[in-house]
Amino acid sequence: MGDSRITKVVIVGGGTAGWMAAAALSRTMDNLSIRLVESDEIGTVGVGEATIPAIRLFNALIGIDENEFIRETRGTFKLGIQFHDWGRIGDTYMHAFGQIGRSLGMLPFQQYWLRGRNEGVAGRLGDYSLNETAGRQNRFARLPQIPNTSLDGIAYAFHFDAALYAAYLRKVSEAAGVERTEGKIASVRRGGESGHVEAVVLEDGTAIEGELFIDCSGFRALLIEEALETGFEDWTHWLPCDRAIAVPSENAGPARPYTQAIAHKAGWQWRIPLQHRTGNGHVFCSDFISEDEATAILLANIEGRPLAEPRTLRFRTGMRKQAWNGNVVALGLASGFLEPLESTSIHLIQNGIAKLLAHFPDRDFDAANIDAYNRRVRFDYERIRDFVILHYHANQRTDAPFWIRCREMGIPETLAQKIALFQSQGQVVREGDELFIEIGWFQVLTGQNIMPGSYHPMADQLTHDELAGFFADIETIVARTASHLPTHEDFIAQHCAAGVPA
Ligand SMILES: Cc1cc2nc3c(=O)[nH]c(=O)nc-3n(C[C@H](O)[C@H](O)[C@H](O)COP(=O)(O)OP(=O)(O)OC[C@H]3O[C@@H](n4cnc5c(N)ncnc54)[C@H](O)[C@@H]3O)c2cc1C
Repeated sequence: MGDSRITKVVIVGGGTAGWMAAAALSRTMDNLSIRLVESDEIGTVGVGEATIPAIRLFNALIGIDENEFIRETRGTFKLGIQFHDWGRIGDTYMHAFGQIGRSLGMLPFQQYWLRGRNEGVAGRLGDYSLNETAGRQNRFARLPQIPNTSLDGIAYAFHFDAALYAAYLRKVSEAAGVERTEGKIASVRRGGESGHVEAVVLEDGTAIEGELFIDCSGFRALLIEEALETGFEDWTHWLPCDRAIAVPSENAGPARPYTQAIAHKAGWQWRIPLQHRTGNGHVFCSDFISEDEATAILLANIEGRPLAEPRTLRFRTGMRKQAWNGNVVALGLASGFLEPLESTSIHLIQNGIAKLLAHFPDRDFDAANIDAYNRRVRFDYERIRDFVILHYHANQRTDAPFWIRCREMGIPETLAQKIALFQSQGQVVREGDELFIEIGWFQVLTGQNIMPGSYHPMADQLTHDELAGFFADIETIVARTASHLPTHEDFIAQHCAAGVPA
């Protein structure tokens, strides 16, 4: 034991992926020397401001104080994503985090809701979600359970400033012993029969040697693609958006505790409220509109004064054929890209790190271990991809060729099966440990006007009056609980406003 253990890890890149990897490895693995190389000249992608609740597990893993983290990243809380104009122009729905209502017997809430809707006793789905009800009133508190009930409380994630997040994680990592080298990598040295990476060589000739290399070099994919030529699986035929225009703006009012995703003629716009500004961006497909038009649409739809010149980001949706190749594991943009519609990229980094920890190699780099990692990462990517495609495909818009194309395009078989099962039975089956839970799919499917033909027959066990009472009780509890929560603004001011000492 111990002979072939990895002792030297080199992380290439100091964006969100690089510093998340550095923080996680340094906080969880003893006897590892970890060096991170980043180039100030190249910089980071600088976007990536919305997350999903699983990030709280990452925070717990690296042992950071949540209020401090929010303060230092000028963050806000996020209860879900509000979608505008996706199914049809004028539609609004929320994909709220957490559960909705409560299950009864063996059946989840949504089966009763389908019956209740038919019988005119169920209101909007969001009326039974504390997250959505609180979000609409700009309220927030940490509340895991609604007191004296069996109803879940608030499930939350964060919005934060991406640059401040990387800086914060750098502080955490360096305190745990991670060493940082600033410099531009000019070449990669490979060796031996295996062709494994032995060192990255900086422009000044310094060679940084390692045993395990984590490629967090962003879209450049310096090791996994430029050096190892692993290959990329392109998904643009399903997710054709290929650019984004991003611009920060002044806050025009209190920060909403949710992200907004507003569909436009050939893509969609995000609004992400932070303590000190709002992040805005327009993701679009360049086959349908020009950059100038995309910029004009964005600037016409931001709420406060722009704080910088709009900038363009180009991307290609898809994933690396293998996220782990030889002694290189790619994380973040180097491993693949799914557009930020459901805020899943930072989660995929976290997920890649968690799986790397679970499959942590020794210097033999056993092929079975690498294959298992790659299979699991692929599964996660593909299932999130399906969920994102659903938003585009399930539309009834007739106003723009982009939306018609998205509706008429072929979709992955795994997604087609999910939609078919839902249409016939009103059911979503979550397979394996795929990320999005049944109620998440349900909110998007019904929010975009896909309604099933029936509901589960067990929902008939309640009489009509019992069913009406069931909905009325939950709605009352949710409304009452939401109305007693502090405003989002007050909660932040009290616990985690930037500039307020701990
Ligand atoms: C438009 C857009 C919006 C997004 N919104 C969200 C969102 O809301 N939520 C979310 O979860 N994710 C979002 N993402 C994804 C998110 O931005 C990334 O997943 C995250 O920032 C991780 O980036 P990264 O660290 O992989 O790459 P980068 O930030 O690009 O970092 C790459 C690093 O590699 C270094 N590097 C590169 N080449 C060299 C070299 N030759 N020598 C030395 N160093 C080098 C760079 O200096 C840098 O430090 C978004 C992405 C885009 C494009």
